[in-house]
Amino acid sequence: MNHTVASYLDPSNLGAWGTYLEQVDRVTPYLGHLSRWVETLKRPKRSLIVDVPIELDSGAIAHFEGYRVHHNLARGPGKGGIRYHPGVTLSEVMALSAWMSIKTAVVNVPFGGAKGGIRVDPKTLSRGELERMTRRFTSEINMMIGPQKDIPAPDVNTNGQIMAWMMDTYSVNQAHTTTGVVTGKPISLGGSLGRSDATGRGVFVIACEAYANAGFDISEARVAIQGLGNVGWEAARLFAQAGAKVVAVQDHSCSLYNPIGFNVPELLKHVSLAREIKGFAGEPLSASDFWAIPCDILVPAALESQITKDNANSIQAKLIVEGANGPTTPQADDILRDKGVTVVPDVIANAGGVTVSYFEWVQDFSSFFWTEDEINQRLDKIMIDAFKVIVDVANTHNVSYRTATFIVGCERILTAREMRGLYP
Ligand code: NAD
Repeated sequence: MNHTVASYLDPSNLGAWGTYLEQVDRVTPYLGHLSRWVETLKRPKRSLIVDVPIELDSGAIAHFEGYRVHHNLARGPGKGGIRYHPGVTLSEVMALSAWMSIKTAVVNVPFGGAKGGIRVDPKTLSRGELERMTRRFTSEINMMIGPQKDIPAPDVNTNGQIMAWMMDTYSVNQAHTTTGVVTGKPISLGGSLGRSDATGRGVFVIACEAYANAGFDISEARVAIQGLGNVGWEAARLFAQAGAKVVAVQDHSCSLYNPIGFNVPELLKHVSLAREIKGFAGEPLSASDFWAIPCDILVPAALESQITKDNANSIQAKLIVEGANGPTTPQADDILRDKGVTVVPDVIANAGGVTVSYFEWVQDFSSFFWTEDEINQRLDKIMIDAFKVIVDVANTHNVSYRTATFIVGCERILTAREMRGLYP
């Protein structure tokens, strides 16, 4: 490795960040004169590692490692979620922040890319401990965040309550209430109608567009979904409402198959009570057999790196719509392309959440709130228009939707970078 290259630029040892670097390398030949600036996408603008000490209920002191990364702010303030998970690392947060830069550019909302997280299993904490950890973390990253600087939101294992604590902590430190510092807040604190369903809704809207483009009717689709959390839940509900059959589901507890299609409202009712799909009627599948199930549309909506060279060959779906961030490795992408499987990448498919986060931020600034119908109509239009641009670029260059999406995102970020110029 060249000694001038920072260690986090080596794709061979970096999981999700390595995946992202390879995705950028693949689009660089399409960036024309902008490729001169491409290195800017391979380096986060700034990364902060913080120690988060709290007093546990037992009286002991615990220390957690937290992160906030600004990947790129060329197009506007940073935007990206906060993840609480024992697997959180700096390089994972870097990758997630970079995908936020691409995503916000693809749907053309005026944000850059950011992400944060704490390496913790929040299930081991009491509510009081969770609140103290969240407030201390918010104070530690105070210099990074603000409604004009960087606006966090929920991600895996964080929710509206955690955003409310973050907003309150920031506001107390500023000595005035600042609702626009986070999105995904409860409605009573300046949250937006439609925000909690927005990512799953966007996944469904894009799946309908892509399936129709391929010449098929969504009401006849058989769908398999990994993950029935914030994203998978609403997508499953809308697929079923449109007449599609949800034939396979997988979550952290097990995998289930029903060739004639699950009763989705009953399944979702079960999940809301049991917090898992285990216990619902269906043919049990092994985790690996889930990927090989006969279906038309596959929606990974759980974690990164789920579709790999080990299971990509067994996938029978015509279309994969990525609800999760980074669920497909570059090697799996190549296998799927060779098999003729269409993949709609995360950076457009799951952009519904950040789009309604943008609406929430705008509403907070103007203190004027829109109806849920207005939100959904504007969301659907932004998602469909963005996808049309990607389809055009994919056809023009004869490339995959992923490459086309990265071309659009990278061009917009690098154009902003070029126009701003370098200081000094
Ligand atoms: P969530 O925590 O609400 O749900 C996660 C789901 O994944 C749960 O059903 C869980 O059981 C399942 N899961 C966890 N581990 C699993 C495993 N090992 N195997 C199979 N399933 C497993 O999370 P979410 O908010 O729905 O986010 C899911 C993905 O979507 C993440 O990659 C997240 O970054 C991405 N995403 C979320 C949003 C959003 O608005 N929530 C927006 C964009 C992207």
